[in-house]
Amino acid sequence: MIEEKGILFVLSGPSGVGKGTVRKALFKKDTDLQYSISMTTRDKRAGEKEAVDYFYRTREKFEQMIRDNQLLEYAEYVGNYYGTPRYYVEETLAAGKDVFLEIEVQGALQVKENFPEGVFVFLSPPSLEELKNRIVKRGTESDDLVANRLHAAKEEIELMDAYDYVVVNDNVNKAVDKVQAIVKSEHCKRERV
Ligand code: 5GP
Repeated sequence: MIEEKGILFVLSGPSGVGKGTVRKALFKKDTDLQYSISMTTRDKRAGEKEAVDYFYRTREKFEQMIRDNQLLEYAEYVGNYYGTPRYYVEETLAAGKDVFLEIEVQGALQVKENFPEGVFVFLSPPSLEELKNRIVKRGTESDDLVANRLHAAKEEIELMDAYDYVVVNDNVNKAVDKVQAIVKSEHCKRERV
């Protein structure tokens, strides 16, 4: 089999849809994908760890990274910056390994401009009502932030058509199975002897 560049997989969708849960469950089952840890200016939540969940940085540091072109994409989302460090993604793909990003919709659209050959997966809630329940249940946000996130989610859902695949997250295990099926299928698409 000819060794080529790795494949860039992008899992996106509205906040609260369960992207993090699906990604963590996927990484317990699949060790061939390399997760790109994002950088953020938001505060660490209870239980989160530096360089595991995110690289936590000040706005000054983040803006310096933007100026130095060290981010593959970034977005300001509900008052904080989130971005993907460029170096890790490019080096890992060049080494022939698949990279997996879990990012919000604006960032995913930026990645699509630079990496049109990437594989874009939209994780969708079964309904907006269900998404609101999930954001409220997580209990880490004030009422205002919940309303902001829901408003952002409605706009994001309208961008679904830009994606290669849609996975409805009504059950985490089933969603993980579908993402794994997408990964396999994309490898088969590119396989040449
Ligand atoms: P949270 O604050 O809940 O961890 O994340 C908020 C949103 O930012 C989620 O939709 C998450 O997927 C997204 N996100 C995380 N990392 C990145 C990133 O590197 N770039 C972009 N554009 N979004 C990100």
